[in-house]
Order: sequence, then C-alpha cells, then structure tokens
Amino acid sequence: MKASQTATRVNAQKASALEAVKTALEGAKADQHNIFLSLNPLALEQAARVDARVKSGEHLPLAGVPIALKDNLCVAGLPATAGSRILEDYVSPYTGSAVQRLLDAGAVVIGKTNLDEFGMGSSGENSAFGATLNPRDPTRVPGGSSSGSAASVAAGIVPVALGTDTGGSIRLPAAFTGCIGMKPTYGRVSRYGVIAYASSLDQVGPFALDSADLAIMLQTICAHDPRDATSLETATDFTAVLEGSIKGWRIGLVSEAMGAGNSASVIGAIESARATLETLGASVVDISLPSLEAGLAAYYLIATPEASSNLARYDGMRFSKRSSDVSGDINEVMSRSRGEGFGAEVKRRILMGTYALSSGYYDAYYSKALRARALIAAEFARIFEGVDALLLPTAPSAAFKLGAKADALSMYLTDVDTVTVNLAGLPAISLPFGFEDETGAYSSSAGLPIGVQFIAPLLEDARLVTLSATLERATDAAFLRV
Ligand code: GLN
Repeated sequence: MKASQTATRVNAQKASALEAVKTALEGAKADQHNIFLSLNPLALEQAARVDARVKSGEHLPLAGVPIALKDNLCVAGLPATAGSRILEDYVSPYTGSAVQRLLDAGAVVIGKTNLDEFGMGSSGENSAFGATLNPRDPTRVPGGSSSGSAASVAAGIVPVALGTDTGGSIRLPAAFTGCIGMKPTYGRVSRYGVIAYASSLDQVGPFALDSADLAIMLQTICAHDPRDATSLETATDFTAVLEGSIKGWRIGLVSEAMGAGNSASVIGAIESARATLETLGASVVDISLPSLEAGLAAYYLIATPEASSNLARYDGMRFSKRSSDVSGDINEVMSRSRGEGFGAEVKRRILMGTYALSSGYYDAYYSKALRARALIAAEFARIFEGVDALLLPTAPSAAFKLGAKADALSMYLTDVDTVTVNLAGLPAISLPFGFEDETGAYSSSAGLPIGVQFIAPLLEDARLVTLSATLERATDAAFLRV
C-alpha cells in the first residue's frame, strides 16, 4: 500500500499502524536481496504508540507508514554502520533531524538498509556486509550507494525510504530499481544525524513509488534546522504542486549527456519522455552544458578530500572499532584499526583525498576543482535563465550485472550524469520511464527499469514534483513503474 493510503486509513482508524508495520517487518524478514542490515526491535511498540496518538485525536501525515532508512542515518538506540566494519558495533545515541520529523509525522522505522561503505560507490557492491541484489533481477546491481533503501521500496517492503545523495546515490539506485528518487536542493534537508561522506555535497532525500508519496516525504523532511549550519530557511507546499501543469514550460535537453556512451534503451527513454512532455504542452529544446564533462573530475577532487577529513575521526580510540591487537604505540593502534576497519574503496578515497589536499598538490588539484565547481554553478545559473528544467539520463545504462565493473574508473563513470548536480547544489529527480527489453532495446511495457533525470534551478524543488506528477498522470501507471 502507498504511504498516502496507509496514512489515510490509519488516521480514519480503518486500519492500524501495528498491522501495517507488522506486514512490512514480515516482508523485511523474508527478503532475499540483502536489503536490511538491521531491523528495529521496537518497531511494533512504536507502531502501537502511533495508533494511540491517532486515537487521542492527532492527525498524522505519515500515520503508521513503515519506512526504511539508509544505515548512515542515525536513530537513537539503533545501529548505524554506514556499511563499514569500522562502525560494526556502533549504536547511535541520538536521532537525526530528518528522521525525527518523519517519526513526529507518524512513520515507523522498520530497519536500516544496506549501502556502499560510507556512501562510496555506485552499485551497492562496496558494503562490508555484502552486496545488495536488485529485486527486479537478482543477477544485477540495484545501484548505489543507497542500494538497500531503493531496493526496499522497489521490492514493495516499504512504500517510502530515505537515502543520501552526494553524487547520485539516490537517483542512480532509483533508476536501476524502478522507483522515484529525489535529491532536494542542498540545505533543504538537515544533515544533522547523517554520517558524513562529503559535507558540502551530502543531501538526504526520499524514495517513493508515486508522486503523492514523494510530496508527503518532502513536505515532512524539508525544514530549517538550527543544528545544521548549512540548513536553509525556506518552505514549500509540495502537496499543493501535485496538481500543477507544465504547459508552456521550456525543458532543456542536455546535448552532452546524449552521446554514444549511452545504451539504446536510455536514449529511447529520453526520446519517449521528450514526446510526452511535448504532448503536455512543454517545449523541449537542446541545451549545451559543456561543464558536464568537467563534473566527474571536479567531483572526485572535492568529494575525496572532504571524505579524508570526515573519516579522520574513525581512529579506534573513541567510538569506532579498535583492532584486537593493541601492541605498539597509539599511532600503530590507530593505523591498525583503520587498516582493518575500512574497505578497499574507502582507503582509495582517503588516499586520493589526502593527496589532493597535500602541500604542493593542493593548488593543482583541490583548489582547481573548487574553481571548476564555481564555473559549473555559474553555467547552470546562466542556462536556467532560459529554461525551467533540464532533462538528461540518470545513468548511461540500465542496471548492470553484479561484478561487471571491477575497476574503479568504470564504476566512477556510472555517475557521469549525476555528480554535477551536487557540485552546484541543485535539486534533481530520477523518474522511472520505461524499460530495457532482453534485446537491449527500449520497451514501454517490460524489462529492466530505465530512469530519466530532471534538474531544476536552486530552491525550485517543487518543479520536480510537478514534473513527476504530470508525467505520472499522462502515462499508463504500468509504463512508469511496475
Ligand atoms: N558514486 C558516487 C561516489 O561514490 C556518489 C555516491 C553518493 O552519492 N554517495 O562518490
């Protein structure tokens, strides 16, 4: 059941939160895709408390809705591993702000979901606790890094989930698993209680299976928070824009993202989206975004330095796991703890980031990447003077086979269409828009899901909700998603 339906029924006392949460927990327990890293032992108790709140007259926008959270989001009393051995035994003493807002609205956390370690990855294979499998085809990756959250929604275990997106980690798995995934404008959702990867890029956002649920989630989590210094003071009524029209909108199709690197099915999905947008009264114009090319290089030279700094705290001396071998001095114990606790990709990022920040290389790498970032943001601002939103693929292909991208560079290239958005802080959404059939061709009826991506100007997140809702209404529901 959709989140909106559960909330309506629970608020009307036609169904109970307890029943909804029990069903979701059973689904999570039966899961064969390595979606959950832990389940919430208090979920049923908390569901009963929601039922009591409803009985006492409270109206809750997410009454009794079971939700899943990426395991880099903190909830008091629950583990938060970030997919890493180094936080294997960590239990969070506090609840993050975005999560708290969901709980206040009546949602119940059923469990914490698998992810690429510290959010570093594009496939869901970099978790210390094993890869997540794609519920649409278990021989394929679900996309990362919010692999488990996307899969939990795609598998129908929960209607909505939270992930984080530093360079595509919500949009990419949404595209690969056939759900809606949105990264709001940087600063609209509090980062308080998010285990940091790259703080200037990290953003919390929702997964959903329809636009109404997307809107309720955004409405609940987008809010100013004094505990996050980058939190913005803005308010938008996301449910009000569901009925909006895109008639007269100008949508820019990003030429640089339409090249030969894309599979035929991805090009087919974009062409199909373009035709639908035109039917709805929008005009689609070709737009050049030359900085897309610089995006990937700039991203990895900004994300990894920030990660090397953020991950310095995991030293085995305070809350992270210490090596069982405590011989030698403090430096040896720290380095042994980090050596045992971090996976290969995380170590690669720490090395890359430390190198890019080191004296002698700072100007050539980190500082240059910051200048590229400023140019990218300026280029977007200029382009948005002439268009209302941009259209481009979410990824160059549909979900690939597990193990197919063994070298780091080919994995990094999966993010080519998503990372630039984070550098500019913009809101972006991935919408399911058809499938790839067995022959690799685009299909409007069945196969592997394909996502199309829309980018909106800063703080115009609502436009993405309107686009999602309009396209949903204009297409057969089965065409957009299963
Ligand atoms: N795949 C990208 C990375 O590994 C983005 C990940 C993310 O958004 N957390 O950095």
